[in-house]
Amino acid sequence: MYSTLPQPVCVLGSTGSIGVSTLDVLARHPQKYSVYALTARDRIEQLAQQCRRFSPRYAVVLDDDKAAQLRLALQADNLATEVLSGVDALCRVASDDAVAIVMAAIVGAAGLQPTMAAVRAGKKVLLANKESLVMAGPLFMAALEESGAQLLPIDSEHNAIFQCLPYPFDGLGGAGVERILLTGSGGPFRTTDLAALDSVTPEQACRHPNWSMGRKISVDSATMMNKGLEFIEACYLFHATPAEIQVVVHPQSIVHSMVQYRDGSLLAQMGNPDMRTPIAHALAFPERIDSGVAALDLIAQGHLDFEAPDESRFPCLKLAREAMEAGGSAPTTLNAANEIAVDAFLAGELPFTGIARLIEKVMKTTQVVELTDLDAVELADQSARKRAVEVLAELYGAHGGAPSPQTRSK
Ligand code: NAD
Ligand code: MG
Repeated sequence: MYSTLPQPVCVLGSTGSIGVSTLDVLARHPQKYSVYALTARDRIEQLAQQCRRFSPRYAVVLDDDKAAQLRLALQADNLATEVLSGVDALCRVASDDAVAIVMAAIVGAAGLQPTMAAVRAGKKVLLANKESLVMAGPLFMAALEESGAQLLPIDSEHNAIFQCLPYPFDGLGGAGVERILLTGSGGPFRTTDLAALDSVTPEQACRHPNWSMGRKISVDSATMMNKGLEFIEACYLFHATPAEIQVVVHPQSIVHSMVQYRDGSLLAQMGNPDMRTPIAHALAFPERIDSGVAALDLIAQGHLDFEAPDESRFPCLKLAREAMEAGGSAPTTLNAANEIAVDAFLAGELPFTGIARLIEKVMKTTQVVELTDLDAVELADQSARKRAVEVLAELYGAHGGAPSPQTRSK
């Protein structure tokens, strides 16, 4: 039923890059959306400011100390915002009866439980947290079907593909689709001398040429594991086989992905690289609303380039494809090993090229099991993390392999 009341939105991960972009879009449409809950792990002062600005019913943090800090910060403001803490509280606000839309923008595996809670509660779920889908794909998609929740992709590529497919969509074959072309910029090291990759720093890896993002996804973009995770994400979201998805390097990040049809048509979605476009699209779908993003000036842009990815430069792409082909817990293991590797790289504990090396070794020495339920996902995730820490020590010692101590990120 069409409601004229603002739709209550829960923003999981509101202090992150996607969270902030989401609040920017929501603030442009106060008659359409209200902010019901905001959540964050840290950056309490930023969260307090968001609470002052949006007056959510709930603000949720991970631990009690942070909750106390937030209550203190908000003491003088006389807000009706209730401060909660813990994973259960994250799940509670994501599935609250009063919530219509959930933006799932926590980074990494930590997003799985609250995102699944939103899916199971049948919400309109805006999925930025690709890791939750990668680690629990078949269960995630089954829960979606069972609850009737609506999933709208926020990842710009998947949002682009969604926009280039018919709606409703019931499979590539029925829609006359031959393949999906998943574009990726190639990140900051697309043309860097291969020999220099060993010594690139976290700061260099996080300096993405086109997008401003959180540190974890920025490193993923530099290794192209981000494209690997997106490859898996696309297989699940669009019921595609690995053979039906081709990764294309497109350095300008203007074409966000494409769909090739049987009749020779190639549909692309284009726009300036700004996440507010997919966020606005998903929030209002099927309506179109202002996102604050400037129109794309193709004449100023001049030209668009495309090339095949170089898997010797980006071995993570191959690892992700192999994980998807292996199925079962292999993508879960890949994701967990990657999270450990990226953290270690950001902490100066392994070199950039060690990320793929570590993941490959974990994949080779971990058995693939069937994911029967979320406990099995949790188990596969935890054992892959444990294995990754062992492999890190085997390959690089306690702090071996880092470019230099001053490149540590924290
Ligand atoms: P970010 O690091 O900027 O923000 C992450 C948010 O999650 C923060 O609010 C943080 O407090 C919260 N968080 C972190 N760990 C948590 C935990 N253990 N429990 C609860 N909350 C926690 O990340 P981001 O760049 O906004 O990315 C968020 C998600 O969106 C990621 O899955 C990423 O892959 C995906 N994504 C991001 C972009 C982008 O442009 N930034 C684009 C596409 C997809
Ligand atoms: Mg993306």
